[in-house]
Amino acid sequence: MLGTSPLTTQRASHGPLAPVFLGDRLWLDFINTDDVQRGTPVDALRDFAAFAGWLELAGVVDGERAAGLRRRADQQPAGAAAALAEARRVRMVLRTLAERGASADRVRFDALAEINRVLSRSAGTRRVDVRPDGSFARSFVPVGDAFAGLMIPVVDSAADALILSELPRVRRCADARCARVFYDATKNGRRRWCDMATCGNRAKAARFRARDGRRERRAKRAVTA
Ligand SMILES: [Zn+2]
Repeated sequence: MLGTSPLTTQRASHGPLAPVFLGDRLWLDFINTDDVQRGTPVDALRDFAAFAGWLELAGVVDGERAAGLRRRADQQPAGAAAALAEARRVRMVLRTLAERGASADRVRFDALAEINRVLSRSAGTRRVDVRPDGSFARSFVPVGDAFAGLMIPVVDSAADALILSELPRVRRCADARCARVFYDATKNGRRRWCDMATCGNRAKAARFRARDGRRERRAKRAVTA
């Protein structure tokens, strides 16, 4: 069990560029699109088509709208590039909010300004939709520009974190090589890893190796004594 790499298994089944959804909040999953695991950058915002694909996977837009966005991006590359640049900019601000917002007032106020900037620039209709699995979700149908309002649900989710005082429960993975952020929804507030199957398992394996190493050294001392 310890010899197999869960990361390899995961990659084999979902492909190397499969985005992860383990942040427990939409805005945190969005931040994790800049996923960096073991030095391999996997950016779901590498181009507009990938961004539209992520929005679809995250349930922000349905398949039809995602396809429409891709078509529109081919027709209006400048508009798509601007929307992508905006998404990356928001992601950077939100990452700072996730990592330092709980302790720094200024970080929270800077993020708030960015959140309000995005919210103020989009006109549209808010709705509540039923998902295929029967759950309910808020959605936003923008009017005008095809690329307008794409970031509204993400920014709304970050706004909820401020409104509901969730920042103290937002954490970065305890593995220093992993930049993933997540919301700790556990009762005791002791979730440390983005994912037990990858980072958590690596830490467990390292603990086992350290323990076995100590045991071996003790055994050697016993023999030489
Ligand atoms: Zn991790």
